[in-house]
Amino acid sequence: MLTKTEVITTDALIIGAGPVGLFAVFELGLLDMKSHLVDILDKPGGQCAELYPEKPIYDIPGIPEISGQGLTTALMEQIKPFHPTFHLGEMVETVEKIGDPLFRCTTDAGKVFECKVVVIAAGGGSFQPKRPPIQGIEPYEEKSVFYAVRKMDAFRGKRLLVVGGGDSALDWTLNLQPIAQRLTLVHRRDEFRGAPDSVNKMRALVAAGNMDLKIGQVTALEGAEGVLSACSIKGNDGSLARIEVDCMLPFFGLTMKLGPVADWGLKMEEELIPADTGTFETSVPGLFAIGDINSYPGKLKLILSGFHEAALMCQKAFKLCFPEQRLIFRYTTSSTDLQKKLGVA
Ligand SMILES: Cc1cc2nc3c(=O)[nH]c(=O)nc-3n(C[C@H](O)[C@H](O)[C@H](O)COP(=O)(O)OP(=O)(O)OC[C@H]3O[C@@H](n4cnc5c(N)ncnc54)[C@H](O)[C@@H]3O)c2cc1C
Repeated sequence: MLTKTEVITTDALIIGAGPVGLFAVFELGLLDMKSHLVDILDKPGGQCAELYPEKPIYDIPGIPEISGQGLTTALMEQIKPFHPTFHLGEMVETVEKIGDPLFRCTTDAGKVFECKVVVIAAGGGSFQPKRPPIQGIEPYEEKSVFYAVRKMDAFRGKRLLVVGGGDSALDWTLNLQPIAQRLTLVHRRDEFRGAPDSVNKMRALVAAGNMDLKIGQVTALEGAEGVLSACSIKGNDGSLARIEVDCMLPFFGLTMKLGPVADWGLKMEEELIPADTGTFETSVPGLFAIGDINSYPGKLKLILSGFHEAALMCQKAFKLCFPEQRLIFRYTTSSTDLQKKLGVA
């Protein structure tokens, strides 16, 4: 078990497990640099997996058509030989230069990393949950109102109110219903955007009397000092209901905000990080910015641009991680050394 004060050491800490952060693992791995990745989302893939998993992408070189999730799955397969460690559902809060080259980074889950280089692949910033329009919700957040499920067991034996009609609301309804004392799902319409199979399973649980479904909106919260005791729900038919609950889990989707990146002492321009186009180093040596988060003359926010940036970034990162070693340029097609690292020779 990792304690809060234990420090995780690695060559590179990659902030963001979007397509560009994932490909950075591959390029770093080819040059023997080990990576840990942190992402605020509970799954890898960034915008591709979160915003358009089923939409086809047509401009990945050599792949005429691939979905956002398909590309993520393929990248995960490609980086397998390098055994990256993922820290999902966590946000990097602080990045501090403590040596040359040495950085200390911390997450909102209390993890501490020390690494030789930091690769910011934070895209459009951190995905943050949309807050439901309920007056006075703030004091309950992270005490009784949760926008993500980090540990299911925290909800065992509790009276839960899940709010929303998409896949997250339905998936968590189905996962938490067996361990909750009682679960109520609230959605503003009797139509759901989630997968039909999940909708059918949820309706079967309601029909069997194992959970409740309310069509309407949560209008008020009752409780004290962040501890929730009840919620008021206004039905679409004008009815008013009061339900006693311990926790509320609203799943209203995500928005992208820059988040803590702005506090890391970097030169920023219009919420983007200017980077050197030869190395993708930022104004802080050893701190790199690749993918949608960076800016330079002619920048295109395309996945293929981020892949190129990852490859160039590694050349400079290698010099910082292994200053005594000479970097030899090699092709994967012809280098047995690279092929051994990939497990194909
Ligand atoms: C609808 C749509 C369609 C698109 N179609 C195409 C297309 O056809 N072709 C194309 O090339 N591009 C397309 N794009 C753009 C493409 O998705 C982006 O260029 C790409 O996702 C950028 O990758 P990235 O890894 O830089 O960032 P992202 O995909 O944004 O990933 C960044 C990750 O960093 C995480 N993060 C941010 N801050 C922190 C923090 N402090 N701590 C921890 N994690 C953090 C975020 O949670 C996120 O998961 C499309 C975008 C959208 C929205």
